[in-house]
Amino acid sequence: MNTAGTTNNTPSIEASAELTVSPLQRLRSPFLDEASIKLYVKRDDLIHPHFGGNKWRKLKYNLIQARKQQLDTLLTFGGAWSNHIYATAAAGHHFGFRSIGIIRGEKHTPLNATLTFAEQCGMQLHYIDRKQYRGKNDPGYLESLKQRFGESYILPEGGSNQLALEGCKEIVDEIIKPFDIICCASGTGATLAGLVAAMREQQHENHQTAIGFSALKGGAFLGRDVKQFLQQAGHDETGRQKNIHWHIEDRFHFGGYAKINDDLTRFMSDFKSQYGFSLDAVYTAKMFYGLFQLIKHHTFRPGSRIIAVHSGGLQGNKGFNLSGEV
Ligand SMILES: *Cc1c(COP(=O)(O)O)cnc(C)c1O
Repeated sequence: MNTAGTTNNTPSIEASAELTVSPLQRLRSPFLDEASIKLYVKRDDLIHPHFGGNKWRKLKYNLIQARKQQLDTLLTFGGAWSNHIYATAAAGHHFGFRSIGIIRGEKHTPLNATLTFAEQCGMQLHYIDRKQYRGKNDPGYLESLKQRFGESYILPEGGSNQLALEGCKEIVDEIIKPFDIICCASGTGATLAGLVAAMREQQHENHQTAIGFSALKGGAFLGRDVKQFLQQAGHDETGRQKNIHWHIEDRFHFGGYAKINDDLTRFMSDFKSQYGFSLDAVYTAKMFYGLFQLIKHHTFRPGSRIIAVHSGGLQGNKGFNLSGEV
């Protein structure tokens, strides 16, 4: 058997040369200057053209684990425009894994851009109806998938599990600059939990806050899930690091997951012309929109140093009828 990782043609996951520390970029504008806010963006969207963003952060230690277990097939779940499906297909291909994508809903031909790319990466796609899809975490169902597709390393939807937190912790570990607030866009909450876990482990004296901007309705559920991720990682809420706070900001979901309106798309194109880079409509545009609203309403004290994580996801913009500027 070819134990992955020991041959010359399968790159090492830990030491992959092109996956370097993502840049921290200061944003400047009259708006931010007037509010006396120092805003930095952690450009995880630049990590890799196809599997950057937080989906790579979440995959990293899972792929390392899959190799340790000598499993050469990744099996995972997602919707037709899933950033996680896209990233798993790309990273799987890059690091020499087979990949299987269990896709929610019916097959539509021609395939959309996300699934076309996934197939080009060699991902085998299987479609299941929405009812069956709800069983995606049932042990019995997962066992039946292994029977059908062979022994595989199973990643949950969105890649969100305990090993995902380990990768997301590195976002904070890479930041050398002192900061007061860190923001991310939230879907399952795993990324936010990783940020909080890392901040707590660094034992700062200063007060710091992490804010997860919910990309979907139901911030209360999200808060509960973040708490659970943290507890499983050994961080209970009564822990020693009381100066590290976190909360979910759930006023900027624009009606729900992947729902957009003209206000948001206008914001995206204004943002692009002001700051020179693009946001994705599902996650990071809603985070920046919300963050700018909070800044506008003087939610943060003057002089605050804020870091916003650009978690990538730009491939998903192809699923919307957006004009060329975004
Ligand atoms: C999946 C995704 C998120 C949400 O991350 P969670 O860890 O599920 O909260 C945020 N931003 C982008 C671009 C994503 O693709």
